[in-house]
Amino acid sequence: MNRRAFLALAGGSMVGGVHSEETTPPIAQGVPLHLEPLAFEPEALEPYIDAQTMRLHYEVHHAAYLNRLQAALREGNLRAANAFSLIRGLKHPPASVTPELQTSLRQNGGGHVNHTIFWRILTPPGKSPQGPQGRLAEAIQKEYGSLDTFKSVFAAAAMKRFGSGWAWLSVREDGKLIVTSTPDQDNPAMCGLVPDEECGLPILGLDVWEHAYYLKYQNRRQDYVSAWWNVVNWTRVERNFAVVTAR
Ligand code: MN
Repeated sequence: MNRRAFLALAGGSMVGGVHSEETTPPIAQGVPLHLEPLAFEPEALEPYIDAQTMRLHYEVHHAAYLNRLQAALREGNLRAANAFSLIRGLKHPPASVTPELQTSLRQNGGGHVNHTIFWRILTPPGKSPQGPQGRLAEAIQKEYGSLDTFKSVFAAAAMKRFGSGWAWLSVREDGKLIVTSTPDQDNPAMCGLVPDEECGLPILGLDVWEHAYYLKYQNRRQDYVSAWWNVVNWTRVERNFAVVTAR
């Protein structure tokens, strides 16, 4: 894995091909600057994530991040096709990017990328294997001992995040699987902005902003985290892992 320079702002093209409802592109192949269609109906994740939360989260919250990201790009006269490349290079933006603009790109580029990742790894209950198989299963076994232990480590990261943020499973540059949590809309791929030892390419992410669960779970984040495992699309997480570790 190489840390790429600010490719997206140089006007790179979208990597990852065309989205279809059956096959979303792996995260490491890019996040385009539009709202990808969900691969399921808003009510399809019930009872674990309710339809009203899904609609608001996707159509209002996520759309707002994307709109503000596009506004920031316009303001800076910047071009970007791939939001994932953009956020990976935010530590060293072009000289024309003011600190205020960098902050906006971090918050709203992160918001757009993080939510796109989140939708891509969700699926209606019963549609996915209960856990990873193959190489990711082996890697989790090696790092955490068992899937259940991994889940408890991940849940602890989600619970420990004070206020708004995310929990992640990422692959570090040295190949190690890491569970981390980021504040606000930071992403593990924002190397230099997140701690070095926590920098990696995410393959699984969980939104723990209250807007992700408050309508159904109110202050019971733990219940939301536990329920969420029922709608994780392990097939896609495995594909994310395969792409990242093939480099
Ligand atoms: Mn959210």
